[in-house]
Amino acid sequence: MRRDPLDFLSRELDALKQQGLYRQLRILDGEQAHTSTFDHRTVVNLSSNNYLGLTTHPRLRERALEAVRQLGVGSGSVRSIAGTMDIHMELERRLAAFKKTEAVVVFQSGFSANAGTVAAVLSKEDVVISDELNHASIIDGARLSRATIKVFPHKDVDAARSIVKDLPAAQRKLLITDGVFSMDGDLGALPDLCALAEEYGCIMMVDDAHASGVFGANGRGTIDHFGVHGRVDIQVGTLSKAIGALGGYVAGSRALIEFLYHRARPFLFSTSHPPAVAAACIAAIDVLEQEPAIIERLWVNTRFFKAGLKALGFNTGLSESPITPVIAGDGALAMKLSDRLFQEGVFAQGIAFPTVARDKARVRTIVTATHTRDELQFALDAFATVGRELGLI
Ligand SMILES: *Cc1c(COP(=O)(O)O)cnc(C)c1O
Repeated sequence: MRRDPLDFLSRELDALKQQGLYRQLRILDGEQAHTSTFDHRTVVNLSSNNYLGLTTHPRLRERALEAVRQLGVGSGSVRSIAGTMDIHMELERRLAAFKKTEAVVVFQSGFSANAGTVAAVLSKEDVVISDELNHASIIDGARLSRATIKVFPHKDVDAARSIVKDLPAAQRKLLITDGVFSMDGDLGALPDLCALAEEYGCIMMVDDAHASGVFGANGRGTIDHFGVHGRVDIQVGTLSKAIGALGGYVAGSRALIEFLYHRARPFLFSTSHPPAVAAACIAAIDVLEQEPAIIERLWVNTRFFKAGLKALGFNTGLSESPITPVIAGDGALAMKLSDRLFQEGVFAQGIAFPTVARDKARVRTIVTATHTRDELQFALDAFATVGRELGLI
């Protein structure tokens, strides 16, 4: 018998099980919604990124169906060969107008937008100056570029400055932050980082995955929220979270976008979206522009739920967004909190190392515009019961 050369993987999985960190995938039965059925249990869903409920919005559904009927289910090619359809160009024009930039390029996902862009723009002589909590796709892009990676402590602009000022003036520098940090829900220090970038001639890049559809007028993102239009050279957004479908995009100058058309590897080597995805995203922009009340509902729910968790005495970190962590500390304890909440009818995913620091394990809650007040109160009651049981409050 041949020995299984992958048997070390089973040993690693066993180690995860011993540490209480082994996760089963939860299976969603039916639609992604504010109350959903996972693993045959109907729960208040605080784990999706479906901030505005657009995954099931009638306007998006209709436009997607229409696109399937008129254009089929696939694009049949990468963008740079035969896979650029009218509807892809229409989506890019609409996003550029929405983001108030010259141009936009759409990628298959936010992950490929970040990784593909950082890797294309930088090469090994260059430097990336990156917040320690930036998203994995930024880190992977930086590694692919082979540029030197300098990490500064979370939101510490002075530390970023002391890194930047010691670099040779002629060296190309990319200063990069998340707009909203996905595990903590706090905001990047955009105005100060923009000023730093301007002072030292850095390229300024912001990953606004969790901010698009959430912050700024009509959900234009943190660049709009902080009033730094024109000061961020590369803006990344996702179409997979508040926009409710799938994809990522880069917004910036015409030259940046044309360069990415020629050099970004996910654009050149991976097939473009099915037309239904582009159609749904266009309909989502219509909704953001024409039904901004949906965003106000998100914020009303956010304020209510965050205040409720704080009043119960949980450690909710420094969140400023609809993402509110409930920090348990130990990884196994966070998983236990998540499991007990699930039994009580609330789905809030446990998150542990390596996604967050070893001593900062948590459950992460995300409210949406479509949660009812009763659902949020039910969730707070479950947090109270389980939090007391586990000695967290
Ligand atoms: C989710 C996320 C991404 C990736 O977006 P996808 O469209 O899901 O690939 C990138 N950056 C941040 C900060 C994210 O939270």
